[in-house]
Amino acid sequence: MKTIGLIGGMSWESSTVYYELINKKIKEELGGFHSAKSIMVSVDFAEIENLQKKDDWDGLTKYMIKSAKQLENAGADLIILCTNTMHLCSDEIIKNVTIPFLHITDATGKKIQSKGLQKLALIGTKFTMEKDFYRTILKKYDIDVIIPDVDDREIIHRVIYKELVLGNIENNSRKVYKRIIKDLENKGAEGVILGCTEIPLLIKQDDVDIPIFNTTKIHAESAVEIALNN
Ligand code: GLU
Repeated sequence: MKTIGLIGGMSWESSTVYYELINKKIKEELGGFHSAKSIMVSVDFAEIENLQKKDDWDGLTKYMIKSAKQLENAGADLIILCTNTMHLCSDEIIKNVTIPFLHITDATGKKIQSKGLQKLALIGTKFTMEKDFYRTILKKYDIDVIIPDVDDREIIHRVIYKELVLGNIENNSRKVYKRIIKDLENKGAEGVILGCTEIPLLIKQDDVDIPIFNTTKIHAESAVEIALNN
């Protein structure tokens, strides 16, 4: 079994879910007393959020490279970055380490492609919805992305930073998210990408009528597949 390196803490509310999902998947695959070999570098999200607010992507990239190198030096065999947003730094991370990096959008694209879907709604932070990394990578898998309108993007983003990363799961916010996803379905979305690792804490499959793609689960389970060489 390979050792999975996780860059976590963005936020820790979703990193704990990664840890659990990875271990559950290893147990499902290997049974008995098996558990995942993993190393996590967990950052202080206050520092990250502060740099994001200042749009200091150079500072954020340096921070991510440093964390990835810590994992490599500690003996990780592969790296996963436990947040969608911070994948904006992924090209530079990949250039600065020698171990493989499993991109969350590639893992998600493969999963969607295996279900034969081509038009997907994407919800996540404003960075994830508005910058083009998701759209560009999903194109490789013949997937088109639609995003909420500007007011709804603001709502989705605000709920992530004011509630979900702080561990607050609010019924009212769930209702609003469901309304936004319904609107995207009416615009032709065949499924919805929960493109923020905390959104699955709020939205479950039963809440919506189209298939959800939970990026936290997809990413964690894909890392296990690589760790087991499947
Ligand atoms: N975990 C979130 C994501 O998947 C947002 C927090 C962050 O900015 O990293 O995008």
